[in-house]
Amino acid sequence: MNKSVFAQQALLAEGWARDVLIDIDDKGRFGRITTGVSRGDASVAAGPVLPGMANVHSHAFQRALAGYTERAGPNEDSFWTWREAMYRFVSRLSPDQLEAISQQLFIEMLKQGYTSVGEFHYVHHGSDGVPYDDPTEMSERVISAARQVGLAITHLPVLYGFGGFAGAPLTETQKRFHNNPDALLRIVETLRYRHREDAGVRIGVAPHSLRAVTQNTLETMISDLHKIDETAPIHIHVAEQEKEVADCLAWSGKRPVEWLFEHANPDRRWCLIHATHTTNEELKRMAKSGVVVGICPTTEANLGDGLFPFRAYLDVGGAFAVGSDSHVSTSPVEELRWLEYGQRLATQRRNIAALPGRPSAGGSLWQSASTGGAQALARPTGAIAEGLQADLIVLDGSHANVAGRWDDDILDGLIFAGNDRLVRDVMVGGTWCIADGHHAMESAAAKNYGCAVAALLS
Ligand SMILES: [Zn+2]
Repeated sequence: MNKSVFAQQALLAEGWARDVLIDIDDKGRFGRITTGVSRGDASVAAGPVLPGMANVHSHAFQRALAGYTERAGPNEDSFWTWREAMYRFVSRLSPDQLEAISQQLFIEMLKQGYTSVGEFHYVHHGSDGVPYDDPTEMSERVISAARQVGLAITHLPVLYGFGGFAGAPLTETQKRFHNNPDALLRIVETLRYRHREDAGVRIGVAPHSLRAVTQNTLETMISDLHKIDETAPIHIHVAEQEKEVADCLAWSGKRPVEWLFEHANPDRRWCLIHATHTTNEELKRMAKSGVVVGICPTTEANLGDGLFPFRAYLDVGGAFAVGSDSHVSTSPVEELRWLEYGQRLATQRRNIAALPGRPSAGGSLWQSASTGGAQALARPTGAIAEGLQADLIVLDGSHANVAGRWDDDILDGLIFAGNDRLVRDVMVGGTWCIADGHHAMESAAAKNYGCAVAALLS
C-alpha cells in the first residue's frame, strides 16, 4: 500500500519547498512529490524533512574501541601505535561479537540521521587466519546487523594481500584479513546472489590501501569485478598518513594519489577515503575524474592524521562525502561541523563550505555530502526526488535550534548550534526505523553489545 508524508518544509533535490506531499510507493521509493498542497490524509512530519545522510566509511567492529585508546603509551602515540591496539582487539573478535557490535552501532547511526553505510570490511577469517566454513561468515554478520535494524548497506569486502608496499608479507594479525583477488571475487559473487532481492544491500569492493595490494592484484580484481557489475563501487584508503606518502614515494617515486591515477584510472565509481595528504595537482585530478573523497573528520582528528585541504578541493569543484570510520562519533552533524571548523581554524576564514548561489555553509555541507555519499555507495539515494529510495529524516520542529527557522537556516541550526540530537524520525527505503528518537530494538541491542564488549575487553 502506498503511504504519504506531509511536510511543512522539505529539502527536495531542487531546493527547499513548503507544504510538500511526499508519496512513497510499495517498493520503498519516492513517488509523486507535490508542493504547495494541503495534507489530505497523509501523516504529518513533526518538523523539517531532509534527505538521509550516507556514511561512506565504517569499520563496524571499531565501535567497541571508541574512547578506549586515549591513554598515553610508553612511546609517542600515533596512528601506528593506535593500529597496534586495534590489531590486538581484532585478533579476538568472534562472529557473534561482530554482529552485536554492528547492531548497536547501526542503531546509533540511524538515530543520528545516517540512512546508509559503506562497510569497509576486512576481518574475513578466523583468528588463526583460516577461512570460516562459509568464507562470507563475517560479511553476512555485518549485513544482517544492518538489515535487521533497517539501515541500508553498501558492503565492501576488502582486498588485503600484503603487509606493506612492494608486496611485503602480512603480519600474524593481518592473516585474518587476507584474500587474493579470486577469493575476494567469490565473496562478492556469493553476497550479490544472496542479497539480490534486497534494495537495501549493494556490494562493491575495497582494495585496502596501496600498502596492501600490488599493481597486478589491483588490476585483476577491478577488471573481474566490473565484468560482473560495471557500476560496482570501489573504495580505497589513500594518503591518510605522511609516513604512507613517504613510503609510497620511496617505493615508486610517486605519491599515493599520483600512483593511483597513473595505474588505476579512478572514476565516478571510486571513493578515495581520507586523501588527507594531497597536493593541489592531485586535488585537481581527483575533482576532474569524478571520484568522491570520503572524509572522516572526527577519526582523522582522533588519530592525528592531518587536515584534508577541503577549501582547495571545493575550489576545483571536487565531490565529497563523510564517514564515521572508527566511530569516535556516529553523528553526521559532528563530521560536517568539524570538516568546516578544521578549515576555519587553518585559514582564519568563515563559511568555507559556502558555494556560489548557496551561501549557507550548513545547507551546502548537507546537500553536497548526501549526494556525494549516494554516489560513493552506488545507491539511488541522496535526495528527495521521485524514483529514488525513500530515505529521509525528520527533525524535531519544536527544538530551539529549528523552531521558527526556514530553509537553509535550519541546516545551519542543525550543524552549528550545540550537540542536542535534533533527529526525531528516520525512514529508510520507505520504512520508519526511528520513531520519536527511538528504535524498537535499542534496548536488546545495547544489552548484547555490553556482553560482547565485556568479553572482548576482559
Ligand atoms: Zn578506514
